[in-house]
This record gives sequence, C-alpha cells and structure tokens, in this order.
Amino acid sequence: MILIDLHVHTIFSGDATINPKLLVDRLYAHPTVKGVAITDHDTLEGYFQVRKLATVYQDLLIIPGVEATTTEGHFILLGIEEKPPYMATLESVVDFAMERAALIVIPHPYRADRGIGDAAERIQADAIEVINPSATLRENRLAEKLANARSLPGVAGSDAHNQDQLWTAYTEVGAEPDVGSVLNAIKNGRVKAVSAKHYLNV
Ligand SMILES: [Zn+2]
Ligand SMILES: [Zn+2]
Repeated sequence: MILIDLHVHTIFSGDATINPKLLVDRLYAHPTVKGVAITDHDTLEGYFQVRKLATVYQDLLIIPGVEATTTEGHFILLGIEEKPPYMATLESVVDFAMERAALIVIPHPYRADRGIGDAAERIQADAIEVINPSATLRENRLAEKLANARSLPGVAGSDAHNQDQLWTAYTEVGAEPDVGSVLNAIKNGRVKAVSAKHYLNV
C-alpha cells in the first residue's frame, strides 16, 4: 500500500507557489505520504522537473499528470506525458486520453469554481475525486454519491497551490510503488480517499 497525493500544482501552473525542489523535499520529509501526482494546469513542465529532482531518492513516486482546462471545466489525466489542447471540449480530451491510454479522473465535479458539474454524470472516466479540500463538504459528498452511483473509484488529492495545503487529502492505493501498478490499482478501485483537513466551516 502506498499513500499518494493525487492532485498537486507547482509554480508552472501559473497560479501556484510550490517550486519543484520544495515539493520533493516536503515529500521526502513526510512520514507516510510517499507519492504525488503532478497535475499542473495545462502543462507537464513541473512534472518533468519534479521527476528529475526526485531521482536521487529511491522511495518517492512521482506520477505524471495534467489538469486540463476544458470548455466545461477541469479534467485530470494521469499517466500521460503530453498535454491536451487548451480549452478543448470534454469529449475531445477524453479521445486524447484514450488514444494515449491515460487514466481519467474528474476533479471536484460539483465545485462552483471549474467543476464540470452535470457532465460528470455522463462523461467517460476512470475515477472521481471525492475529496478536494477547496470544495465544500457538501460538494465533496455529492461527488462521493456520484462515484457510488457510477460505480467508479473515489480518489483524493490536496489540490495544493501553496505548501501549507500539501497532503491535506490523499489516497491510499493498494499497489506497488511504481506508476503502472498505481494506475492499475486506481482503475480497479483498490483505493481509499482520505481527508487530513479539518473542516472548520461546512
Ligand atoms: Zn481544478
Ligand atoms: Zn487543481
């Protein structure tokens, strides 16, 4: 089993302050979370830098990913090292992902800010983000309900844009610490979403 924060941004997102070196240091220092998916907005640049910096540490797992900005909201692809076109339709990003055998995760489906909303009920996906600390408790509960209704695995990530937000949500994955094993485990539902954030205002 490995604990992974499946949704993290770096400075390459344009709206985040986490630099790749700091991210690797913080991951290395964490007692239990040993993996991270880099999901910058519409770029893989942060992932390439983090992966390079992490190679000196044996036990850190860096998963390639991207949070695509589509015409309908945010959409996450994992296990891909190529960015989809900016502001494309959800359907075309699904095609892009499937052609490259990427895993599709719907992030914060019901969050007012950049959630894809009702489209999450019909669009092709491998997993749904059921805990996003910047969504409300109600929005996360709706996401969990949707995952159950669609029989899709529920995952979690911090959606960290600054270092204080790192690891506030993560996913327990029943996999070996390698990218292929983790993606396979997510697809097959060997996951548990965990919130490490205390909701003060719900
Ligand atoms: Zn987002
Ligand atoms: Zn995000």
